[in-house]
Amino acid sequence: MRITVVGGGVIGLLTAIECVRASGAHQVDLVDAGPIPSPLATSNDRLRVTRALHRGDPVLTAAAAGAHSAWLDVERLLGTRFYHPTGALTAMPAEQANIELAELTADGAKAWALSPKDLANWYPRVNFPLGSAAVLEATAGVLLADHALVAMARWLAEHPRVRLLPHRQVVAVSEVEGDGVVRFADGATQSADRVVIAAGPWSRELLASSVGPDLTLYRQSVLSYRPPTCRRNWAEMPVVLGLGPNRDAWFMPTVAQSEAPMRLSAASACRPVEEMTDRGTPDQWRHHLVDLFTQLIDGFDPAGVVGANDGYYLAERTQGGPLLAAYGAGTIWAFAACGGMSFKFAPQIARAIADRAVGDSPRATGLESIDRPRQLAAVGEELTL
Ligand SMILES: Cc1cc2nc3c(=O)[nH]c(=O)nc-3n(C[C@H](O)[C@H](O)[C@H](O)COP(=O)(O)OP(=O)(O)OC[C@H]3O[C@@H](n4cnc5c(N)ncnc54)[C@H](O)[C@@H]3O)c2cc1C
Repeated sequence: MRITVVGGGVIGLLTAIECVRASGAHQVDLVDAGPIPSPLATSNDRLRVTRALHRGDPVLTAAAAGAHSAWLDVERLLGTRFYHPTGALTAMPAEQANIELAELTADGAKAWALSPKDLANWYPRVNFPLGSAAVLEATAGVLLADHALVAMARWLAEHPRVRLLPHRQVVAVSEVEGDGVVRFADGATQSADRVVIAAGPWSRELLASSVGPDLTLYRQSVLSYRPPTCRRNWAEMPVVLGLGPNRDAWFMPTVAQSEAPMRLSAASACRPVEEMTDRGTPDQWRHHLVDLFTQLIDGFDPAGVVGANDGYYLAERTQGGPLLAAYGAGTIWAFAACGGMSFKFAPQIARAIADRAVGDSPRATGLESIDRPRQLAAVGEELTL
């Protein structure tokens, strides 16, 4: 089978890998508007968190419990390390910690509950919300996202049945006599048995006529922080979540093997926007996060903020998560909304998309929107960008 994958972010790269690993000697073309990997891809950041616990959402927690081992499989395949099991600590009202812990461990995750006293003793510089206990997940951590993307692109570049086509912007996709046809910005076209669209936050325009109105674009600001003092202590921290008055602030620690600074943000710094513009962080949002973390970290020094940047993602409007859509008989598959947590699920999502593209029976991810894709009418007219 000839398969064209549009988009070289984490989903496109891993889907291409899974397609060539499937039995059947499939040929894969991976196309991106920029270099592969592209610096503009949402996936192309220093750090991404992977963790299982999603408070109050047992289905998501169960699905995420498989993310850790799926990433270890990817590391083994690529022969390189980019996953660092720093652990993840989620603060919550004390009476909920044992309930959340029981759910998490029933799903197979290794985790412990920490009492308010443990938190005060172990993490004296962090101001947890009053009365907080926490759950500490051992098999959670951070992925060095940019390293991972480079390793995936290298693996694909060396594979004899893969062609990487960087700097080729796709402007339209259509179905013609059972084939998927991709049209490039220069007017050239390419046919394939299957087309997979994994264009991240750009897919809204490409799929405008079909699912565009069902997608919301979000913009999130993140601070980069190098603690001016006690850096080693911060490097030994887990990812910390559940901070602040709304329990929606989080930080990622520095990782010893990387030069990446700490990353600090909150759901309150994520807002719906009409369109993607620049990636700079407006002063208003930078100040919002500086003010917030001044309250949350003892000795937080604004001079340690070494950068700030904004990223974009698309979410399905009602559920707020990712969305997979099939067109017609399944010639064209679109990962139409990437959602705000698809990096950690990427190995599972990519397997499920690749299985469908090559005609195998799809492995379940536990994510409803991937396991039951939205079925759309065949694309008679082009899906245009
Ligand atoms: C600030 C922020 C923090 C996040 N933190 C986490 C986290 O900690 N954990 C987690 O699991 N997830 C996190 N996410 C979400 C996660 O990063 C995304 O869900 C995921 O990276 C999306 O990957 P993707 O491959 O779908 O899209 P992308 O990585 O955006 O890749 C899309 C690719 O498609 C290409 N493309 C687009 N249009 C075209 C076209 N017309 N022709 C050719 N190529 C095209 C682009 O150039 C790009 O390379 C975060 C997101 C943001 C914004």
